[in-house]
Amino acid sequence: MANIETRYFKNINDIRDFLKLSKPVFFHGSQTSMVVPYEKIEQFCLQENIDSFLMGDLNQMPPVCEVDDNGVLTIRGSITWKEGREFAQTKGRNILTSPTEELAALLSGIATSCTGERCFGFGTYRDHLIEVTYLDHQGELKTLRHENLLIDHELFQSEEARKLLTDYQKSYEFYSQFKNAPFPRLERETDLMTGTEGQLGVIIEAKIKTAPLENVTYIFLTLPKWEEDYSLHLRVFDKVQNLRDKIFSVELIDENSWSYLPQEMIPRPAKDIIFLEIADKHFDEIYESVLAHLPELSEDDIFQVNERKCKDLRMEIPRAVFESNSKMGVTKKGTDVQVTPERFQSLMDYYRKMTNVPFEYNLFGHFGDAHLHFNYMPKPEQVEAAQEMLEEMYKWVKEEKGSPFAEHGIGLLKKRFIWPFYEDVHFQMFAYLKKKMDPQNLFFPHGFMSMKKG
Ligand SMILES: Cc1cc2nc3c(=O)[nH]c(=O)nc-3n(C[C@H](O)[C@H](O)[C@H](O)COP(=O)(O)OP(=O)(O)OC[C@H]3O[C@@H](n4cnc5c(N)ncnc54)[C@H](O)[C@@H]3O)c2cc1C
Repeated sequence: MANIETRYFKNINDIRDFLKLSKPVFFHGSQTSMVVPYEKIEQFCLQENIDSFLMGDLNQMPPVCEVDDNGVLTIRGSITWKEGREFAQTKGRNILTSPTEELAALLSGIATSCTGERCFGFGTYRDHLIEVTYLDHQGELKTLRHENLLIDHELFQSEEARKLLTDYQKSYEFYSQFKNAPFPRLERETDLMTGTEGQLGVIIEAKIKTAPLENVTYIFLTLPKWEEDYSLHLRVFDKVQNLRDKIFSVELIDENSWSYLPQEMIPRPAKDIIFLEIADKHFDEIYESVLAHLPELSEDDIFQVNERKCKDLRMEIPRAVFESNSKMGVTKKGTDVQVTPERFQSLMDYYRKMTNVPFEYNLFGHFGDAHLHFNYMPKPEQVEAAQEMLEEMYKWVKEEKGSPFAEHGIGLLKKRFIWPFYEDVHFQMFAYLKKKMDPQNLFFPHGFMSMKKG
């Protein structure tokens, strides 16, 4: 039996004292990660022959949230997206990232390179970071600035290290327009903490850009079932691509997804829905340029939904899907794939092929970014078949140069699937950073950065 323990941290000195003990630890925030089996960690450790797993709970770190005159939001300690957003709104500002799960922690979101609905209009969380402060392996506070290039950081001053970074960055070029590539960006100083999933230090504070609060309208479009005909879906996709300064989110919820929600939450008609979050000041223009050019949609197929209801619907679907799987005793069998806009139709074609199975499935997610979550809902005896389908799909994603895990990261569950996406330069970079920043491999030692090539 694996020894699973949790240690709670109440302030920075607690963490510092702990780091002196040189114990391997997995620091965490709200535990909403889809790629860490929090509820089944013991089972996971048994399968992986891990004797002990120490969790470092950061939820008692004192919360601090401040906005300065320039709209820069400073976050310290345990603050969720919901709390941060509500606080910013009291100051007339809005946070530009909006992960569907609002109870995730803002600082953890740096570790996971969080994205979300508003990524369509405002880019990724990584783009909004100004500064990130972390505790290094010796308990020293270090501050990284987004405006500073990583190549100028002290870690990359030797000729060898500079060459490694240059080669690594070359391998990223193809993915530069993706939300998250199969490997971290490593372009700016702050990237040392972004998407590295807590493997290089403990994030303590961040300074984040915000925008002035503005009124928005959520419009739902009712479409045919995508499995039967997704031509209209693709037209909407094409029409919104150049309107990212006016439309902030473009999300899909398919007809199958509604069945996991309580009856009273389901909108009518319960068909495929694409919803758009549109800045009020551009609403008429969007109506004319997008909605008026979709003659297949009648007036009844286009309706407005209030912001809270829209957010609740969007958040409850992945939660309900997750719960439905858990009740069945099945670990989530879903995708997190992003492709380039040019390959989006191929992704939809592939998903359509994946529906040819004897078990339930559903599709939802960040439609405008060509980034959707396709989920299988197998019974326990069907899990193997679902797993095989997903394994085949990852081969296809690699051939297509898609990003297999564009927002949920790798955690513990996706390591074996990400491994084929890494080349020598990625393994070398991870080993270099671990050696320099975590020489005893104490920060999340079972994470992707400790994987070996062979
Ligand atoms: C319903 C649902 C919807 C979701 N939607 C989205 C979405 O739209 N976009 C998205 O990006 N994600 C989404 N997720 C995934 C998840 O919410 C994110 O990965 C989130 O950033 C995790 O935050 P957390 O506080 O729960 O982190 P945790 O699960 O506690 O930790 C996640 C990782 O971050 C590391 N970490 C946490 N805190 C720190 C710290 N202070 N310092 C260093 N490392 C740290 C941990 O070691 C771990 O590797 C969704 C999850 C659910 C359940």
